[in-house]
Amino acid sequence: MIQTLQAVRGMNDILPDEAEIWENFEEVIRDWLKGYGYRPIRMPIVEPEPLFRRAIGEVTDIVEKEMYAFEDALNGERLALRPEGTAGCVRAVIEHNLVASGGQQRLYYQGPMFRHERPQRGRYRQFHQIGVEALGFAGPDIDAELIIMCARLWGQLGLTGISLELNSLGSAKERADHRAALIAYFESNRDRLDEDAQRRLHANPLRILDSKNPSMQEIVEAAPKLTSYLGEESRAHFEAVQTLLSEAGIAFRVNHRLVRGLDYYNRTVFEWVSERLGAQGTVCAGGRYDGLVEQLGGKPMPAAGFAMGVERLLALWQESGELEYVFERPIPEVYVVHQGDNAQCMAFRAAEALRDVGFDVLLHCGGGSFKSQMKRADASGALLALVIGEDEAAADEVGIKPLRDGGEQYRVSFPALPEAVAGAIYGTEIQQDYKPRKGNGQGVEDGSV
Ligand code: ATP
Ligand code: MG
Repeated sequence: MIQTLQAVRGMNDILPDEAEIWENFEEVIRDWLKGYGYRPIRMPIVEPEPLFRRAIGEVTDIVEKEMYAFEDALNGERLALRPEGTAGCVRAVIEHNLVASGGQQRLYYQGPMFRHERPQRGRYRQFHQIGVEALGFAGPDIDAELIIMCARLWGQLGLTGISLELNSLGSAKERADHRAALIAYFESNRDRLDEDAQRRLHANPLRILDSKNPSMQEIVEAAPKLTSYLGEESRAHFEAVQTLLSEAGIAFRVNHRLVRGLDYYNRTVFEWVSERLGAQGTVCAGGRYDGLVEQLGGKPMPAAGFAMGVERLLALWQESGELEYVFERPIPEVYVVHQGDNAQCMAFRAAEALRDVGFDVLLHCGGGSFKSQMKRADASGALLALVIGEDEAAADEVGIKPLRDGGEQYRVSFPALPEAVAGAIYGTEIQQDYKPRKGNGQGVEDGSV
């Protein structure tokens, strides 16, 4: 027996019912980003492995244990499936010189990312992000705008209960001072550190602050805080971000333990968190990464950005009930049934003529009796069936059968078909820039077409 093959664990198929919701979501996203002047960019899914090692950091969860890295079997090159988008985006910006000296770019991308994690609700091995990157901006204004635009998206999607956590990681120098203090502090408490923390003590002590181990909470809580090491400029930057957010009416909580799992961040970092998703509650995370462009070989350039987890956002959207209001299921408006050779030729022409003026049409394929074809027409959700037999074909006419209100079938001449369908469905003539409305917005649910 042939064994059936299954998708890789943690990598999900997105089936049509769900994929339609994704497309709807992506439309909202495109419109939202356009409103803030962001332009799309698309990077490869596979990048050179060293890109991520350099950008994200050697001693991070992602690089140490989550990255799908492999050798190209043909030329031995070390490659990786991208675990996130910022590194590739910055690489592309440098490679194509997208930001001239002193210039600015607002960019976004979306697509699959890959991390070898333990799959669970809201955590997958192939997941999707929408990434937003603002390059060439040094001030606190863009940090605030990045955060404010997220708030607008939550509003547009009708999501509530997503709260904002904010922190400042300071400059590289300030982080180094804080780091030295942290190492000294944790060393003097070495016996109270768990295994993970012991391992990170010298390599990445900041990440110890992120520990979720209950027995570590007390010692972590009392650790030296980065805020006490912030210099004048970092402090002013952080305060300005907070003022802009307050002015915009955005509530936030300063969380001194928010450090983020990627090494390239400095100054402002933030996370949007929902309580409804359990441990996988962060739907959006980002911050400033002023050193990254230079670190990847470009000219020094300040930058900031964030990434949102699409699966987590969609889970929230679906359970919020708000989806119902914006989601229009793309059902065909017209289903064409036909029988006989001449009828089939006319059916093709009729379907194309209706598509010419914007209708969505399903042309029956696969033959069968009129009765069985009409069953499919009914099941398709279409509002009208076109019925074409040899009689109709000979007379250059088409039968129209309303499917949703029990109306009688009638015939119209072939040239009059588009007008007749428009009238039957929408009660209007075809307009100059006629684009029929999609879905069942015309009260199909209560039976009236
Ligand atoms: P977490 O703490 O949940 O592991 P992270 O800090 O690793 O998140 P980022 O690298 O900042 O996450 O990615 C940004 C967003 O992408 C996250 O806030 C989350 O919404 C989403 N995300 C990250 N990893 C996954 C995953 N394995 N499955 C689904 N979504 C994810
Ligand atoms: Mg993670």
